[in-house]
Amino acid sequence: MKFRGILITLAMLIFVGTNSCKKISEHNKINPHALLSDDKYSKLVVEIQSFEGQEPDANTLENIRTFLEARLNKPDGISLVSNTINPERASKYSLSEIEKLEQKNRTIFSSNSKASIYFLFVDGEFADNANGNVTLGVAYGASSMVIFENSIKQLSGGFGQPSTTILESTVSLHEIGHLLGLVNNGSNMSLAHEDTDHARHCNNNNCLMFWQSETSDFIKNFFGSIPALDENCIKDLQKNGGK
Ligand SMILES: [Zn+2]
Ligand SMILES: [Zn+2]
Repeated sequence: MKFRGILITLAMLIFVGTNSCKKISEHNKINPHALLSDDKYSKLVVEIQSFEGQEPDANTLENIRTFLEARLNKPDGISLVSNTINPERASKYSLSEIEKLEQKNRTIFSSNSKASIYFLFVDGEFADNANGNVTLGVAYGASSMVIFENSIKQLSGGFGQPSTTILESTVSLHEIGHLLGLVNNGSNMSLAHEDTDHARHCNNNNCLMFWQSETSDFIKNFFGSIPALDENCIKDLQKNGGK
């Protein structure tokens, strides 16, 4: 009987092990080229998961869809799936805490011909914020992004500030840019344009991939609209399977 107990335990361990390996390997298949091209994945599902009360607005979702449709080769379509979660709240979140929230709550993963990327809109702020510089979003891993929605709301919608939609959209599109390999982050540069002081960012201060687009510094140089990708960034995406 004891032997049988060990066997059952072993079987359970193998099952759990296989299950978690599957998720990890699905993540590993995703890289900027797989996201941009239709070589492996002909469609994309974007999971938008938000803490209750921190959901992005409908215009931001539309801006995300428009941006992806303009740059990705996904002949079978791009869809957005939104849902909310209600975890215990904290005032600050470290990246490892964000990753734990994703592991617990993310529901959609890449499989077969479907690629998936994940947004988590949280309240509270990034634990790494220091010296008055507030990080509004972070892309991490191969397919994941966190948006600090509460920080965005505090810096938008008021006099002289961008609208919440514009700031939310700018940060969201900037983080997608990182997942797509910008700048020098998995999509090779056609022309050298990485900011020497801010790795993985574009040296053009009018470009969406300028480093300020994901920080509170964005509002200092705000010109009234969502920055677009400049020519150099678009060329990098096209060279790596995008359009
Ligand atoms: Zn960035
Ligand atoms: Zn650029």
